[in-house]
Amino acid sequence: MEAKEACGVFGVYAPGRAVAHLTFDGLFALQHRGQESAGMAVSDGDAITVMKDMGLVTTVFDERKLSGLRGHMAIGHTRYSTAGSSDWINAQPVFRGVGRAGFALGHNGNLTNTAALAESAGMLPGLVSSDSDLVAELLGQCFPPDLPERTRAEVGGDLERSLMAVLPLVEGAFSFVLMDADRVIGVRDPNGFRPLCLGRLDATDEFEQGWVLASESPALDVIGATFIRELEPGEMVVIDGTEVRSERPFPVERLNPKLCIFEFVYFARPDTKLYGNEVHGARRRMGQLLAGQAPVPADLVMGVPDSGVPAAEGYAVASGIPYGQGLVKNRYIGRTFIAPTQAERANGVRRKLNPLRENISGKRVVVVDDSIVRGTTTRAMVTMLRESGATEVHLRISSPPFRWPCFYGIDTPDTNELLASIMSLPEICEFLDVDSLEYLSLDHLVQAIDAPGAGFCDACLTGNYPVPVPVDFSQRAELSGAAELSGAASGTQA
Ligand code: SF4
Repeated sequence: MEAKEACGVFGVYAPGRAVAHLTFDGLFALQHRGQESAGMAVSDGDAITVMKDMGLVTTVFDERKLSGLRGHMAIGHTRYSTAGSSDWINAQPVFRGVGRAGFALGHNGNLTNTAALAESAGMLPGLVSSDSDLVAELLGQCFPPDLPERTRAEVGGDLERSLMAVLPLVEGAFSFVLMDADRVIGVRDPNGFRPLCLGRLDATDEFEQGWVLASESPALDVIGATFIRELEPGEMVVIDGTEVRSERPFPVERLNPKLCIFEFVYFARPDTKLYGNEVHGARRRMGQLLAGQAPVPADLVMGVPDSGVPAAEGYAVASGIPYGQGLVKNRYIGRTFIAPTQAERANGVRRKLNPLRENISGKRVVVVDDSIVRGTTTRAMVTMLRESGATEVHLRISSPPFRWPCFYGIDTPDTNELLASIMSLPEICEFLDVDSLEYLSLDHLVQAIDAPGAGFCDACLTGNYPVPVPVDFSQRAELSGAAELSGAASGTQA
């Protein structure tokens, strides 16, 4: 997929343990959610130390830096910019020096009412550098003056009280981790657009029980924590000792679960648990259902690494066509530069993927991928397969056509760059140079996820935005209608 994830968050409360090292391991497990910058804030109960920089987790932190970050609690963040530029100033956690020791915040998601919030708070344009910075500013404004006569217990409630006042005003997608000197807090927006889960570090002879928050469950696994549960949409958990307290800062009428359906298709790791199921199984079922919905005679089924692979396995099992590897991905591809032109972006595919010519040559191949956004990389990949001797290339996509931009924390191009928004199905087939193209239907996608009664955001597939977005799409309805009439959603074969 050519869209970028939008951040990973992590938090740990674990007296006695090396929390900076635990946070490093947790962030490393969440590296796929953001590769532009990484950071953490650590507290020893008296002061908060923040360390952050541009680059991968392993670039920003080394043993020497981690050893210097001492305390009993920490939060961490990996970033891909969706609101605010890719600069050091926007690396997270964000810190505000209010109250006795200040507080730090890490954010996954995108707010949709940033302009209104900034205006209502009396902030001049340009005063805040990102929507996460704006929330930190609003919270900071709610802190009372730190008068010497206030007890530690009174001061300790300031961050929580500020959150209870500010969160109801905030709209859009946000999974937050926050901390002051004594507590770690996790918040999930009332729609639960982005994931956030809770884990426990069991007590040992050496250490007392600890608690962990993470965007995805593998970040718990790597540090030996037990998955307890996903936070509920609209839930705030406060960890300030051995127990976890749950608060509800949002009015009940705003609670409407809409977990991003693309977390299942592409964004989340395959070993992540969402809505109680492992993502890998859902991706396999997407492929199985796709095989039933869009069969084609072929000699080989292959997946586009990495996220197309489980769906390809499912397609192969259900269709009876042998599964094989057709493309090798460079495992060490980290953050690649964003090439300024489409042609350069297409060339970049060769750095990432290389064909297995002997597996492909002389064969009719079914290629399974998770989605098509701009189509540039898909087209380059198809060219590669044809040059390697594939006699037919049948493309199968394990999600419906991606037609609308995301405003909830994923970096997607504008509508006029989204292939399914500007071309009919036959035009897409011609552009990509494939013999046939089919997309998994939305019904089948939901069926594959297998979470009966669960709510999803599918706005980039349907244009139905569950929370109002700061853009007028009325003029773009024509485009969407054109694509619908072309049969792109129904998967007509070319
Ligand atoms: S618009 Fe698409 S990518 Fe964005 S949150 Fe909704 S389903 Fe996810």
